[in-house]
Amino acid sequence: MRNHVRVAVIGGGVVGASVLYHLTKAGWKDVLLIERAELTSGSSWHAAGGMHTLNGDPNVARLQQYTIDLYQEIEKISGISCGVHVSGGLLLAGTPERVDWLRMAVARGRYLGMQLELISAAEAKKMHPLLEEKHFLGAIHDPVEGHVDPYGVTHAYAKSAQIGGAEIVRQNRVVDTKPRPDGTWDVVTEHGTVHAEHVVNAGGLWAREVGRFVGLELPILAMEHQYFITEDLPELKGQPELKHVIDFEAEIYMRQERQGLLLGSYERAGVPWSPETTPWDFGQDLLPDDLERIAPSVALAAEHFPILGNAGVRKVVNGPFTFAPDGNPLVGPVQGLRNYWVACGVMAGFCQGGGVGLSLANWIIEGDPGADIWAMDVARYGGWANRPYTNAKVRENYSRRFRIRFPNEELEAARGLRTTPIYEKLREENAVFGDYCTLEHALWFAPKGEPAVEHATFRRSNAHANVAAECRAVREGCGLIEISNYGKFEVQGPGAAAWLSRLMTCKLPAVGRIVLAPMLNERGRLIGDFTLCRLAEDRFFVVGTYAAEVFYRRWFERHPPPPGVTVRPCAMEYLGLSVAGPASRAVLQPLVSQDLATAKFPFLSFAAMDVGMIPALVGRVSFTGELGYELWVAPEYLRALYDLLHEAGRAHGLRNFGGRALNALRLEKSFGTWAREFRPIYGPYEGGLGRFVHLEKDNFIGKSAAAAEKANGGVRTLVTLVVEADDADAMGDEPIWHGDKVVGWVTSGGYGHTVGRSIALGYVENAVAGETAGFAVELMGERRPATRSPGALVDPQGQRMRG
Ligand SMILES: Cc1cc2nc3c(=O)[nH]c(=O)nc-3n(C[C@H](O)[C@H](O)[C@H](O)COP(=O)(O)OP(=O)(O)OC[C@H]3O[C@@H](n4cnc5c(N)ncnc54)[C@H](O)[C@@H]3O)c2cc1C
Repeated sequence: MRNHVRVAVIGGGVVGASVLYHLTKAGWKDVLLIERAELTSGSSWHAAGGMHTLNGDPNVARLQQYTIDLYQEIEKISGISCGVHVSGGLLLAGTPERVDWLRMAVARGRYLGMQLELISAAEAKKMHPLLEEKHFLGAIHDPVEGHVDPYGVTHAYAKSAQIGGAEIVRQNRVVDTKPRPDGTWDVVTEHGTVHAEHVVNAGGLWAREVGRFVGLELPILAMEHQYFITEDLPELKGQPELKHVIDFEAEIYMRQERQGLLLGSYERAGVPWSPETTPWDFGQDLLPDDLERIAPSVALAAEHFPILGNAGVRKVVNGPFTFAPDGNPLVGPVQGLRNYWVACGVMAGFCQGGGVGLSLANWIIEGDPGADIWAMDVARYGGWANRPYTNAKVRENYSRRFRIRFPNEELEAARGLRTTPIYEKLREENAVFGDYCTLEHALWFAPKGEPAVEHATFRRSNAHANVAAECRAVREGCGLIEISNYGKFEVQGPGAAAWLSRLMTCKLPAVGRIVLAPMLNERGRLIGDFTLCRLAEDRFFVVGTYAAEVFYRRWFERHPPPPGVTVRPCAMEYLGLSVAGPASRAVLQPLVSQDLATAKFPFLSFAAMDVGMIPALVGRVSFTGELGYELWVAPEYLRALYDLLHEAGRAHGLRNFGGRALNALRLEKSFGTWAREFRPIYGPYEGGLGRFVHLEKDNFIGKSAAAAEKANGGVRTLVTLVVEADDADAMGDEPIWHGDKVVGWVTSGGYGHTVGRSIALGYVENAVAGETAGFAVELMGERRPATRSPGALVDPQGQRMRG
């Protein structure tokens, strides 16, 4: 075994092998994989090997497509067969809601370049003669679905990596990883220590234990998963290979395995495996089978595929594999640790392993994953995702694997965990709550006396009329919303301004002022948008997205401030309320000694002031586009502030509004938001943030790329579309058509209650970005005509918030 390497990969499952291969493919030969036993000694060996391209996140779907395309390449290099069977696949719908879901999946596949086709149940029957047509309403046909040989795939990656210069050491467990002061690592194994510049934890079933070597508690949990293979069935003899199927109603997947069928199920009462610690002596073992657990699904499947009724079971596989709380992988560098990377929690290694390996190798070598992989970034979880939380969410996610997640649906596991001091008050007001990183926040307010419940749907829900009333209150009078769930940082010390100026593209605000601050990576892509508030020469209050707090911290660690400057995350130390609407000044003015007239406290002012007896930081901004104020206070003051504002607001008709109304209001203003309009695939000029990019500044990260984007105009443009919708609005990821061509995709959508129109924000190719007519947005499978609005639909000049 080499004693010094650039990268030591821990774990020789499909994921570790793929990371190793991609490192060598990019030219890094001095890399080592250490495997405790033999390759595929975790989940990989007993996988069903199914592969498919669909994923809830389009960026992950792209990487799944990449993975499938990769198999030919590694077969060619290694000479090892991956056992690829591209049988094609059917996703079968048995309910109208599922048909809607299929329509949306086909539409989304369009802009991803997938060849998905919506077919009738009769056509599905022709493609899969064993199904009972009467149980289905339609299906998607995906020609690139199929299955692979898990052992072959893992060995093909490994051999290809070895051919590329990598070393693989088997039968050698890593027992510790110790950081050196220079950021490199001593990887301690049973047979000696390797000095590595980078460590990759690809420990699969043991990734949690490997993480614990460095005090890291990764949010992953293994679940037991069962599939069985039937005896040979004479009906299959001599027939072309059956298509892979997912039967959503029965909650099963099924494919042909030699002359029999392989059927697996994600049962509702899933069982975690080794929830605390994975035993090191678990190897290529199976768990005792328990077909009773999946019996209800199998019984339904037997109605849908009668041949199953007479099929004997030849073999049952019950094996564990790991999941993150949302079912997507955990990939990337770990905040707080230098040169420590993870590639774990990969629940579909044979669909995602290639994409995970590519992204991680890019990230290690180039400092950037090369694609928008937020959906699988390990930094999407904070300390709130502890073991019990992970356990509850993974079980929920597993049980819902084949169930529809409606866009307005809030899930039930791990709820009510974090609440702010006004939670009970909002409940009394009949708030319908949503969960955001385990923090409860009000989505909308149901009428008194009615249940505070929103019906899950793809169409406009029972919230619609109530949200309309909340929006009206804000546009016409005054509304109050809790904004505690924003992320916040305090940056202070001599040199704070210079450091922030290097990280953000904007000109720094003067003391007492606020500015919108985009943050770019070296490639000039958007990795953050902040509200930068300056309290003193060297003291800033920085407001951003709470869900990205760990992501930001990791970035700040990579570009550390000079000595003497502190960067402190303080999201839960400042809770907030915002009052917005034309009457908001009249509500707030009597409570503060500061003159709030525009001449004295104009738009984008920021100051510490007492609101009644409550010390607060007050900014004159509002995401609603109205005159408005954001007030930040220590948690213990929030309840008093809420009461005080309501008291003062009574005469002005102040009413609560929630997150749904805020979204509708910002859509009418064409205001983008993080993770929707602003993501690392877009540039600031493409996203309409060019006016916050000060190229004349000395330097900032991403400056030369931003300058190039400005010069060449980028490739796409964020636009606002008014859609001729019926009873369903865009929600994100729908294709945007111009004429007969897909020219882009929706990033967010909803109903603008002030203008009474359905609105979609989205990116389109520059070639059509100047057009007004001729657009269409594909909603629920129908192309709905859309018109580009040249500016925001409400107050395009921004007079209201400035007035
Ligand atoms: C029953 C079943 C069916 C499945 N079906 C499918 C399917 O159809 N399609 C699909 O895409 N996926 C499927 N999967 C999931 C798939 O198996 C996993 O996504 C994949 O195997 C994860 O690979 P991995 O490399 O992350 O982890 P693992 O396969 O668990 O590999 C981790 C490796 O790391 C090694 N290791 C751990 N700790 C150390 C250490 N300290 N020192 C050295 N080595 C160490 C282990 O020995 C192991 O070999 C299925 C899983 C199961 C259980």
